[in-house]
Amino acid sequence: MKIAVLPGDGIGTEIVAEAVRVLDTLDLKFEMETALVGGAAYEAHGHPLPESTLKLAKEADAVLFGAVGDWKYDKLERSLRPEQAILGLRKNLGLFANFRPAICYEQLVGASSLKPELISGLDILIIRELTGDIYFGAPRGRRTAVDGHFPGAEEAFDTMRYSRPEIERIAHVAFQAARKRSKRVTSVDKANVLETFQFWKDVVTEVGKEYPDVELDHMYVDNAAMQLVKAPKKFDVVVTGNMFGDILSDEAAMLTGSIGMLPSASLNSSNQGLYEPSHGSAPDIAGKGVANPLATILSAAMMLRFSLNQPEAADRIESAVQSVLAQGLRTGDIWSAGTTRVGTREMGDAVVAALSASITKKTITG
Ligand code: NAD
Repeated sequence: MKIAVLPGDGIGTEIVAEAVRVLDTLDLKFEMETALVGGAAYEAHGHPLPESTLKLAKEADAVLFGAVGDWKYDKLERSLRPEQAILGLRKNLGLFANFRPAICYEQLVGASSLKPELISGLDILIIRELTGDIYFGAPRGRRTAVDGHFPGAEEAFDTMRYSRPEIERIAHVAFQAARKRSKRVTSVDKANVLETFQFWKDVVTEVGKEYPDVELDHMYVDNAAMQLVKAPKKFDVVVTGNMFGDILSDEAAMLTGSIGMLPSASLNSSNQGLYEPSHGSAPDIAGKGVANPLATILSAAMMLRFSLNQPEAADRIESAVQSVLAQGLRTGDIWSAGTTRVGTREMGDAVVAALSASITKKTITG
């Protein structure tokens, strides 16, 4: 099992170090190789995704990614900015399906801005299409308007588009994921206004006929944004396009209280994947040793489950995280009165200790 470890920038190096320690604690053998990505790679090689990093990622079974970016790179030309590394990896590895679970741990119910009864027991999975939509559609650019409300004025434009195979493959991913959960899929669109999303709705409905055991409903994106804060537990698997998924998955993430708790996986058709926390490089707290490493540790668990076929090890990491939360340990982002505030390293130590204890127990009980 080969893992490409790409810590990136800001808190990326701190949180990935803890996830690597957790993986090292398992009674499994991995080949882990680290490479630069994002701003760190730009500083060293003049590009956020150097050829050597891309080669390593392509050869690996999975990529464990931290985060990239810093405000200091905002003035660079777009193709050299750290965030381009993520787009480059998605494109080159064909990562089209983004899984973002939003789970509210019982111990963290109070960290949500929603009432406990709305959030307690929440476990939803947002599946976002990653390679199409308005983010990649061409043509795009700036020009002088020849029509519209202000002919002759400067304007900018993008193109929203989805092809049938792109919609079909993400719909299959969603229906198959739903089969392993409560067999419900909500497809989110804007079919009332956008031709692209009327097509999306039609194709998802057709694919749904192949999964008669899964219940499918459709919701407009504006309503979905409302329902996520009004009654989030109504959802189970949500599947949507690239732009709506970008926004809704962040909204769902914040329902659970802290972005520092939320893992994510981006997969291609052969289950090779990139695993990363849902948050960014947090330059405001980088280097202070206070970042929450749990989202990255939980991303490593997803990696074991989806790309490395080690579901039992994934379960053990998730149980270790639960046990650490039950002990009352909290990083600053999830701290509340009555709990113990710890830093990045101490949180990693606690997960490693809980995991070691579970491995020892497993060995003793055979
Ligand atoms: P961010 O997610 O980095 O930070 C938002 C807020 O959440 C900050 O206050 C930060 O301190 C806090 N936070 C984030 N992760 C945390 C953690 N693990 N523990 C505790 N607190 C945490 O988003 P931002 O500030 O908008 O962006 C910062 C940089 O990250 C930008 O350069 C942006 O482009 C980049 N970014 C990268 C990715 C990625 O690598 N996938 C994703 C989003 C943003």
